[in-house]
Amino acid sequence: MNNIFGITLSDLEEYFLNIGEKKYRAVQVYDWLYKKHVYNFNEFSNIKQSIIDNLNNDFTNEFINIEKVLEGTDVKKFLFRLLDGEKIEAVLMYHDYGLSVCVSSQVGCNMGCRFCESGRLKKVRNLEAYEIVEQIILIQKYIGKKINSVVLMGIGEPFDNYDNIIKFIRIINDAHGLAIGSRHITVSTCGLVPKIEEFSNLDLQVNLAISLHGATDEIRNSIMPVNKVYSLGVLMPAIRDYIAKTNRRVTIEYVMLNMVNDNVSDAEALAKLLKGMNVYVNLIPYNETKNIGFKKSSKDRIDKFYNTLVKNKINVTIRREFGGSIKAACGQLRSESD
Ligand code: SAH
Repeated sequence: MNNIFGITLSDLEEYFLNIGEKKYRAVQVYDWLYKKHVYNFNEFSNIKQSIIDNLNNDFTNEFINIEKVLEGTDVKKFLFRLLDGEKIEAVLMYHDYGLSVCVSSQVGCNMGCRFCESGRLKKVRNLEAYEIVEQIILIQKYIGKKINSVVLMGIGEPFDNYDNIIKFIRIINDAHGLAIGSRHITVSTCGLVPKIEEFSNLDLQVNLAISLHGATDEIRNSIMPVNKVYSLGVLMPAIRDYIAKTNRRVTIEYVMLNMVNDNVSDAEALAKLLKGMNVYVNLIPYNETKNIGFKKSSKDRIDKFYNTLVKNKINVTIRREFGGSIKAACGQLRSESD
């Protein structure tokens, strides 16, 4: 049976039409769920009993569970237990511009990036749309505040679970749903080219971030197996096409790994690769984890890399670090909980 939190408004409208009801019922249901925070169908007082019976027969309203919360000064990390016992995590970050949540899209991940904790657990399964939506509902409920922005940068490769993440985006973006503005939603991919193309045709203005992490095939092959399938020769044109089609700026993520991809010559190669493109580079200080040998670049090396990009007129920022102290960084909580 379908969980109601994984149903887009248009699918719910179609459902009501199919059972011979008016389509405005869908907005009524959405209002109960997402505005009034009433989840028991029997309490939908403006909806007649025969429809409530239909809802009870055709949908569940079960929630995933918060297993553990770790609290830092500007970050809270949530470990969730799914209904089948699998575990995933999400991170709430307090920025000066508002609250953002980083959600997981899969249990485990098959991309195998060498430096990434999440990839040490092979993909067990995709998350259903409702399991991603509920991460946000539960966090909002826990803190009693509205989330302003969402990034799909937790465990998993969103474009390896394309249909469900698109449903998720539609549900949280809907004005009758969680009403999170499309420009405040970012999908991050390690570079699944066919899905980048598909994403460029989407009728929503969501942001795209590409985990590049290397400016040459040699470096990228050595840390990201996905590059052996979609090398820079196909990835870069796909990004260019995406920008041309959507007219939107793309974020290039670049994790700073000590002595691996953080030389000045790497910055020069990156600047050359990105020259003239409507992108901005987000340099990510690597979160070291005890299971993996990579080390974080020193502040000095990050600064030199940054300055080289600036000198070459590339838009660049250094990502602020969250959650290191509470092991909240990148897949660590999930992996420590086994
Ligand atoms: N699979 C998607 C999204 C999940 S990871 C992707 O690859 O984009 C989100 C970002 O965190 C990616 O850029 C990823 O490479 C990066 N990342 C993974 N482990 C990290 C770590 N230990 N420290 C810093 N960034 C990390």
